[in-house]
Formats: sequence, structure tokens, C-alpha cells
Amino acid sequence: MTENIEIQRVKESKISSVDFDNLPFGSVYSDHMLTCDYIDGKWQAPKIEPFAPISLNPSAKIFHYGQSIFEGMKAYKDDKGNTLLFRPLENCKRLNKSAERLVIPQIPEDIFMEGLKQLLKVDNDFIPTKEGSSLYIRPFMFASGNGFHASPADAYKFIICTAPSGAYFAGKVKVLIEEKYARAANGGVGFAKAGGNYAAQFYPTQLAIEKGYNQVIWTDDNTHQFIEEAGAMNIFVRINDTLITSPTSDRILDGITRKSILQIAEDNGIQTEVRKISVGEVVEAAKDGSLKEMFGAGTAAVISPIAGFGYQENDFDLPELENPYAAQLKKLITDIQTNKTEDPYGWRVFV
Ligand SMILES: *Cc1c(COP(=O)(O)O)cnc(C)c1O
Repeated sequence: MTENIEIQRVKESKISSVDFDNLPFGSVYSDHMLTCDYIDGKWQAPKIEPFAPISLNPSAKIFHYGQSIFEGMKAYKDDKGNTLLFRPLENCKRLNKSAERLVIPQIPEDIFMEGLKQLLKVDNDFIPTKEGSSLYIRPFMFASGNGFHASPADAYKFIICTAPSGAYFAGKVKVLIEEKYARAANGGVGFAKAGGNYAAQFYPTQLAIEKGYNQVIWTDDNTHQFIEEAGAMNIFVRINDTLITSPTSDRILDGITRKSILQIAEDNGIQTEVRKISVGEVVEAAKDGSLKEMFGAGTAAVISPIAGFGYQENDFDLPELENPYAAQLKKLITDIQTNKTEDPYGWRVFV
């Protein structure tokens, strides 16, 4: 089905209107998108077509029952002009894990991988070459089938859109440790990249922003005594010289950046621990000076350093370090992603 993907090209490319020196994150789009429909119990032939609005019936179940999942990945150019992806099969597998939980049909690996590679070839000129920039890739699937009955839809759409993007965050963020709201619960969908998870994060995040923070540190829904994620990123805490992250669970997303960082840290002599991290421990470490760093990890920002955190009306600042793990690890991982160094793990995939 993916040997000869039908390509309908744009009449006129918008590439000349893209300012590659001043790219925002994820809001300038490439010329084309990959689309594939699931109808009558099977996936139809994928197509590459102009990036454009899509038409849906107002009763489409995506609008009412939120059967919607996504992935986030990036393509990079190395200095020889090759296009690289980073562990793309992991994204395909995770999309299908999310799909299973939301009763969305599994997307065949060849539609995902071959469709993506061909899309990247068609929109090759949109992949930024500037240091720190990349092509952000957004694969997603949703219920396009109709009806107000609260049950899984009978039709779905898989789409891949891409957006040439600059760096995600500028500067360090101030975070608030959440004491009331939760983004996920045991038995829920927190491990899935389901659209509704992010909708549910917006309100508590807005309250945190009103208090002067940039982002929320999510705690477990039951006791709010353990830190779990930072916004839509996994969280790492450095106490003395040990780098700690929470174990994945029903509530914590199994991030590809997270597991790559764990591997790279271990192989570069940084001691790591995967275990629950209590709020009390972090507050104590901040007070006695053993809390050296906190950062979020995810595809978009790669590593997002945290400047300080708020908890129960108190603010705690983190120290400014000479050569923080955050910067060391970000360089190690982005050097692999952009083909500047050896890739002993086989994580890179050339397009
Ligand atoms: C996507 C995401 C992450 C990071 O996953 P990556 O595979 O590293 O991009 C972490 N937490 C949440 C809630 C996410 O949605």
C-alpha cells in the first residue's frame, strides 16, 4: 500500500514566505500532509496532499467523545544535507499503544514509516538547517466517523503534518508543584498521548501562570506527595550528583527523550536512579543545598531547565551551575540526533 503513495502537489509552494531565521515553534506549516482513512474496517491507501483544512460532519465523534491521539517527533538535517529521524519506530509503537487505550484502530507500521519518509522527501526544503532548528512532526489519529451515540466511531483519520520550527523554550522556567489538580489517575489514560490529557492540564496551568509561574509540576492524584511530570514533559531531579526520574506508570508518559537521557547519562558516568521522588525530599534538598538541578525532558524542548519551584506559598531557587547536567545531556543527545557524533545505540534513522 505504501509502494506508490499518490502525491498531489501544491500548485505553488509557500517556501519563499518562510523566514528560516525567525521560526516560531509549530505554527508555520510545510506544503503537504500525509492522510490515510480508516473506512469499512480497513485502512485505505495513504495520500500526500496539500496542507489544507479538512471537512468533518458536526456529529463526528472526535468533537463529542474526544477519541484523539497524537505523537511529536522531529526531523533534522546534518551538515551533509542528510535527513535524520530519532527513534521513529518508538513513536509508531507508542501511537498504537495510545490507540489501543482509546479504541482507535492500529496504524500499520509501514503506513506510518513509509508515509512519513515520503512526506519528508516531498517537503525536503522545509527541513531547517540552522543549528537548534528542526522540522517538528505531528502524526495524529482521530474519530472521523459520525453519530451522537457514545461509542467508538466506525471511521478514523491518520494525518502527519510538519512544521519547520525554531527552539521551543527561551530560557529557564519557574514551576509550581501541584497540590490539588492531577493530570492523570491510576487506570486512566495518562500514559497515552490522548488529546484530552492536555485539555485537562490547561486550567491548572492557567492558575499557575496567574500566580507567576510558567508551568505545573504534576504530582500523583492520590496523595500529591510524589512528583511525576513537568507540564507535558518527563521530569528529572538532580540531588547531589545523582540524576533521578520517576518510573513510568499508568499516569506517567513513557517519553523517548526520558529513556534516551537515562541511557546517555549512565554511559557518561552520571549516576541515575529511577524511583518515586517525594515532594518532601525535593523541598528538603532545596533547603540543604543538595538539590542541584531540575529539568523537563521531551521531544519539543529536548531539555528544559527549571530555575526554581513554588510549593505551599514558598519559592525555592535552584543554583546557577557551571556545567549543569542539563546542558551536558542536551549536547550529547542533540549531537546524536543531528549526526555530529557516533550513534552507538542505533537511534538515528536516515530518510
Ligand atoms: C510527549 C510527552 C512527553 C515526552 O515524550 P517524548 O517521547 O520524549 O517526546 C512527556 N510527558 C508527556 C505528558 C507527554 O505528552
